[in-house]
Amino acid sequence: MARVVLFSGAGISAESGISTFRESGGLWDRYDVNVVCNYDSMQKNEAITIEFYDKRRADLEDKEPNYAHDVIADLKEKYPDDIAVITQNVDNLFEKAGLKHEDVIHLHGFMTEVRCQNQQCNKIFDIGYKSLYDAHNGFCPRCGTGFRPNIVFFGEAVPMYEELNRQIQDCELFVVIGTSGNVVGVNTIAQYVQRSILNNYEPSPAIEDALFSKVLYKKATDAIEEIAEEIEAVLESR
Ligand code: NAD
Repeated sequence: MARVVLFSGAGISAESGISTFRESGGLWDRYDVNVVCNYDSMQKNEAITIEFYDKRRADLEDKEPNYAHDVIADLKEKYPDDIAVITQNVDNLFEKAGLKHEDVIHLHGFMTEVRCQNQQCNKIFDIGYKSLYDAHNGFCPRCGTGFRPNIVFFGEAVPMYEELNRQIQDCELFVVIGTSGNVVGVNTIAQYVQRSILNNYEPSPAIEDALFSKVLYKKATDAIEEIAEEIEAVLESR
């Protein structure tokens, strides 16, 4: 279990040119999330759902990690056992910054992966930036069932939340970067841990910032050095 938990959302990738969800813009504006991100999207709206994720996957190819991803990757490399990098993001910018995929806990799935829809099989394939249909023609080579994006849709269970709960058990510092707090309730976690930092570009109605030990309303790339200093201070303190 980690001494420091770094919990991020779409805001950390905003400066890399990937649009956030609530602030919208880009791809999100052109699709209805209730049509393409719902638990029954693959049953009711398969073609448009696959098209949406194909476009988001392709959109990632030329995106580069920013300074905040880079600093976090360096910290994780320096303190591999003491820091947990947990993200709601489905992009691969922490991995592009140098972290191994297994060292990043992606709560809501991973955009470059597809998953067999047969629950008994459930095999996952990393298809890079390709269309789902171009990966084995869209069908699992093991059992022949169709693929789906390996993304957690609204209304689906999120098995990785157990891992988040496990990591915060003994956490000395909980750092939140770039999330509106609408999906994961960071207020509760801030009340539970000894010390916490909130970094968002602006206040969010879903986050009670008085619950945090330190609040930084600025861009993640402007806040990350101060955050890194606090993390090092905690980790060097014993
Ligand atoms: P959100 O869009 O609801 O909130 C974004 C937050 O980031 C806001 O509070 C905003 O103030 C802050 N922000 C914007 N620019 C910032 C910057 N430069 N520096 C620091 N903070 C900044 O995002 P969310 O809370 O992560 O929830 C959206 C859901 O959609 C998540 O479940 C996520 O899986 C998904 N999503 C993922 C990506 C991605 O993978 N990059 C992108 C969009 C949405």
